[in-house]
Amino acid sequence: MRAAGLVVRRTLGRLAEAAKPGVSTLELDELAEQTIRDAGAVPSFKGYHGFPGSICTSVNEQIVHGIPSAQTVLADGDLISIDCGAILDGWHGDSAVTLAIGEVGALDKALSAATEAAMWAGIEAAVPGARLTDISFAVQTAADAASAADGTEYGQIVEYGGHGIGREMHMDPFLPNVGKPGKGPRLEVGMALAIEPMLTGGTNETVELEDGWTVVTADGSRAAHWEHTVAITADGPWVLTAPEEG
Ligand code: MG
Ligand code: MG
Repeated sequence: MRAAGLVVRRTLGRLAEAAKPGVSTLELDELAEQTIRDAGAVPSFKGYHGFPGSICTSVNEQIVHGIPSAQTVLADGDLISIDCGAILDGWHGDSAVTLAIGEVGALDKALSAATEAAMWAGIEAAVPGARLTDISFAVQTAADAASAADGTEYGQIVEYGGHGIGREMHMDPFLPNVGKPGKGPRLEVGMALAIEPMLTGGTNETVELEDGWTVVTADGSRAAHWEHTVAITADGPWVLTAPEEG
């Protein structure tokens, strides 16, 4: 899974370099698919329940599951979340980043930073002996703390969240991004989870578009999404989709 995670990481690294004003999300998708296949891996999103892309590209008010398109051309000031999954030798990696295109506003930067911080708080709670919703509680607590620190109330998305991962991309259990601690399965060495909070600059109400995939904020506020695949080890969480040196 670490090898699969590194394919995902390298792909997201290339996408981060390529994501600039004037580039379409379809171009990013093509770069992602090529990078994944060049590594001898398979893009796990491609054809997943009929999903057309190799990555999800969710721009501005889109929260998750945005479909790459030639018509969606990045512009200065956009905030894009890119979610990427790869299968290598039957094992899955899954990770998402939020990127600023050109110069984004201070609120967007804070939103993305808050979401990433919430993800890392969740990762720190992924230790043997803890319970599943200890992660949920850590994510929610960090999101609340960021709201207080930033003087705003971030919307905390509850309909979508993390999941078990391994031989399949989406495995039990579902991992909520909010909730009381101390519930759900006990975390044991050898388990792996994708931890992926989503925050918005406004509401936590979501709407799925008629394309059957794209999820947007009900109020048009912008969203951020960060994700890592994490293994539970005796030494603590191992971030399988972190960079080689990370
Ligand atoms: Mg993902
Ligand atoms: Mg995931």
